[in-house]
Amino acid sequence: MVKRNMDVPWSYSGANGPEYWHTLCDWYAEGATFRYQSPIHLRHDAASQIVHSSEAISFHYQTERFTEKEFKNTIHFIPFECDSYVTFNNVDYALTDIHYHLPSEHWIDGQQQSVEIHLVHMDKEGNNLVVGVLCEIAPEILAEGPLRQSAVWDLDRHLEVFDPSVFLPKTRSHFHYVGSLTTPPTKGPINWFVFDEIAQLSRAFLSQFQEEILQGNNRPLQELRGRDVYYFPDRTE
Ligand SMILES: [Zn+2]
Repeated sequence: MVKRNMDVPWSYSGANGPEYWHTLCDWYAEGATFRYQSPIHLRHDAASQIVHSSEAISFHYQTERFTEKEFKNTIHFIPFECDSYVTFNNVDYALTDIHYHLPSEHWIDGQQQSVEIHLVHMDKEGNNLVVGVLCEIAPEILAEGPLRQSAVWDLDRHLEVFDPSVFLPKTRSHFHYVGSLTTPPTKGPINWFVFDEIAQLSRAFLSQFQEEILQGNNRPLQELRGRDVYYFPDRTE
């Protein structure tokens, strides 16, 4: 009998590792048939410049309540009301989940970073849009910078109120391409937006979740397969 179940276990190494995900159940197998998988290696010199600002993503984040949960091999921060959203091509996508990977899944110009934060969004039809933020780990608690407000998490109440903009870098230039989820069922198409400014994430923030963090929860790079990658410069500067 073929397993078709969201709870089929998978991991980042061994018999349930990334090279075997598509063999674990037919749901994962179906996702893996999407030709354009993620993550990929992003390069400024190979990306097409986007000239029309109508093709940009816009952020409409606001302060709201989040809880944290461990599942799918990482820590997830989940909003209660999903009031924050982004707009792309006149479609609104609500922020549904924030989680991270160590080290980064995407590479930029030959460089992998220590952490990649994923802000996962969904429109009314259930289509996903994911924003990726590559980060270095700052050794000290950040007094300034985009992630300073996220330095402390209330682990007793499992509740925190913050503006998810704290996870975004200052400069909004980014790569855009069509890919897949980077975890099973690795389905696509998914619109990806990856900032090229490397953000700073304080070690104090990460160490709160240290016991539950799985190091090495990054899917290996996938083939580009001739797909187009776009680059959108920040025009506010
Ligand atoms: Zn992710």
